Amino acid sequence: MTTILDATKDELEKEIRPNFRAKQIYQWIYQKYVNSFDEMLNLPKNLRAELSKKYTISPLSLIKEEQSGDGSKKYLFALSDNLTIETVLLPMKLEEFDEKGIRVHHARYTVCVSSQVGCKIGCAFCLTGKSGFVRNLSAGEIVAQVLFLKKMNNIDAERRVNVVYMGMGEPLDNLQNVTKAINIFADLDGLSISPKRQTISTSGLSPQIVKLGKMDMGVLLAISLHAIDDDTRVKLMPINKAYNIKSVIDALKTFPVNMRKRILFEYLIIKNVNDSMHSAKKLLKLLGGIKAKVNLIYFNPHAGSDFQRPDEKDVVAFADFLNSHGLLCTIRQSKGLDISAACGQLKQRKENELA
Ligand code: SAH
Ligand code: SF4
Repeated sequence: MTTILDATKDELEKEIRPNFRAKQIYQWIYQKYVNSFDEMLNLPKNLRAELSKKYTISPLSLIKEEQSGDGSKKYLFALSDNLTIETVLLPMKLEEFDEKGIRVHHARYTVCVSSQVGCKIGCAFCLTGKSGFVRNLSAGEIVAQVLFLKKMNNIDAERRVNVVYMGMGEPLDNLQNVTKAINIFADLDGLSISPKRQTISTSGLSPQIVKLGKMDMGVLLAISLHAIDDDTRVKLMPINKAYNIKSVIDALKTFPVNMRKRILFEYLIIKNVNDSMHSAKKLLKLLGGIKAKVNLIYFNPHAGSDFQRPDEKDVVAFADFLNSHGLLCTIRQSKGLDISAACGQLKQRKENELA
């Protein structure tokens, strides 16, 4: 049975008569958080019965949840065919109260979603890549991750969360379903997550970057660069053989960037591989002329990996150099390092436990 979360509101409007029912169904699912069609009280009984025969609401079942000291939570879900994926909830700002106990602002959250089971790209540092590719997620399976986390964490429907496509999988290798998910997320009768609050992270599939740019959806882009020369990058990311650094930069130059936004460059720092001042200088040069922001990520070691976590002093010096030369640079605080942080790691541990 398929999940109704796969359907855009337009698709439901075409299928269901009278078509205003589509809006009501969207509101029940995404804003009133119902778990069954029977709870959709303003729908005629026969329509509820028809929908229950045809669709499920959630395609996910929770297998495991891990909480880290800093408040981030990592979830392992089973899909309807029992394959598993991970999703992470990252609190960006905690709730604050004034001295009278009145809330001054709400907590802000980002949800890190998976877009595929496994991944074809096979980056040397990534556990998801090691397990190979299994299948694409459908749009509904992507949307369900955010809906599930909002429900489970009692996040009010009107609190808009941010979405980053930085979980398992390469989103631009599943462009059709990912762009459909972007539209379902954005629906004002649904989760109301505007494309400006959604960031696609890619290993650099140049033709797909151009294609996404032409769609002009307003979505934000993050590039997993990780190296400043092709020799190093190809060792870390075999995709660089097909699309080298120049081809990625050329593709980016065609991508529409909102006036107040920048393209995010993710740079995974690995000890003695790409952590030198020489690399920082070359990165500054490479990104000259692009509206860029750099996010440095500490490599998160996992069993079976030859790479090492970089020294903090080298990461800080790298960031200081870029910032002092006018290139905005942040260091990703390793949210949830104690909960097997980077993508693929919770899934791997669970499989080891089960083995
Ligand atoms: N496939 C896309 C999005 C998913 S990966 C991409 O590669 O951009 C999301 C991020 O997790 C990437 O920037 C990736 O480099 C990072 N990542 C993968 N393995 C990691 C590890 N062991 N430690 C830290 N970050 C890792
Ligand atoms: Fe795939 Fe991204 Fe992991 Fe590379 S880092 S293997 S592209 S999920």
